[in-house]
Amino acid sequence: MTVEAPQIPAYRTFAVRVSGIRRLSPSFLRVTFTGDDLRDCAPNGWDQRIKLLLPLPGRGISDCPTGPDWYEEWRALPPERQNPIRTYTVRATRPEAREIDVDFVLHGATGPASAWAGQAAVGDEVALVAPNARFPGPTGGYEWHPPADASCLVVAGDETAVPAVCAIVESLPAGRPARILLEIPTADDVLPLAAPDGVEVTWLPRRVATEPAAPHGALLTAALVRAVQDLPGATGTSRPSMLDDVDVDASILWEVPEDTADGRTSGPYVWLAGEAGTIKGLRRHLVQEAGLDRTSIAFMGYWRLGRVSD
Ligand SMILES: Cc1cc2nc3c(=O)[nH]c(=O)nc-3n(C[C@H](O)[C@H](O)[C@H](O)COP(=O)(O)OP(=O)(O)OC[C@H]3O[C@@H](n4cnc5c(N)ncnc54)[C@H](O)[C@@H]3O)c2cc1C
Repeated sequence: MTVEAPQIPAYRTFAVRVSGIRRLSPSFLRVTFTGDDLRDCAPNGWDQRIKLLLPLPGRGISDCPTGPDWYEEWRALPPERQNPIRTYTVRATRPEAREIDVDFVLHGATGPASAWAGQAAVGDEVALVAPNARFPGPTGGYEWHPPADASCLVVAGDETAVPAVCAIVESLPAGRPARILLEIPTADDVLPLAAPDGVEVTWLPRRVATEPAAPHGALLTAALVRAVQDLPGATGTSRPSMLDDVDVDASILWEVPEDTADGRTSGPYVWLAGEAGTIKGLRRHLVQEAGLDRTSIAFMGYWRLGRVSD
């Protein structure tokens, strides 16, 4: 008789509690989570994403799944016992201290995650679905895959992408040319960021002093359109190609290069995340008008204006 080894999932649930809260700026709140098992949370870095299962009134996280098929378990629950799930980025992992940091954009009490963060207190419990360090292989869950010979790196996003972009920037080697564009709600939301030599960071606040705020995505779009006009190695990398339309109100815009080795030019590598309508417009511009090689661009709609991300 053969005994099957227990299945080790690439992602698993972690029951955690808030151990620290720090207001970084008017729009950003850093929440530190701790939990006995967090030493087993894989410190992959880059734009590592996790799921947050938020507490239900009166039930907390008592119904959160714990098995290897966490999503199937969650789906099998009656709707009133399904903890709301939202996607966030790991800003920092400290397995030895059993801690991780998540930076929340505070956009009001319009959604369960932002509402929870706005009221969070030390000791509050949530569940995370995060990469499992015991999994014997790559756990995945991050999309930063620049080809080694990319002529230039362009990393751009809105405030929801700031945690991912900051983690990426801090891990870049010195001397690797990179342009970073970050649209944020206000001038006071510029965060300290240790960028290596060769990395040029531009913060784009929608509201400066008492001036009327720019519409969401307008500054990011204008800055990226300008930035790709003179990228090293971009000239002639690809003929403009036609794209399928993506309905960002009905589906998720998530188009990421899967393989870094084959069929790529050594032109620029672009990583782009934020509000889905803005990312869709930029996808059209970069691929259809600027003629950048689409297989070297990660397009990620992190959220959609006016739409709950469940
Ligand atoms: C891979 C990935 C990583 C992410 N990382 C982070 C992260 O580290 N930090 C972070 O803050 N967000 C991050 N996000 C975005 C986050 O998941 C969404 O903003 C999510 O909608 C927040 O959930 P909610 O419950 O607050 O609002 P929801 O219930 O989803 O939405 C309620 C309403 O709020 C609006 N809304 C949602 N987000 C915003 C916003 N930022 N500004 C204004 N209006 C908004 C929606 O359009 C909707 O009308 C990430 C998303 C993805 C896919």
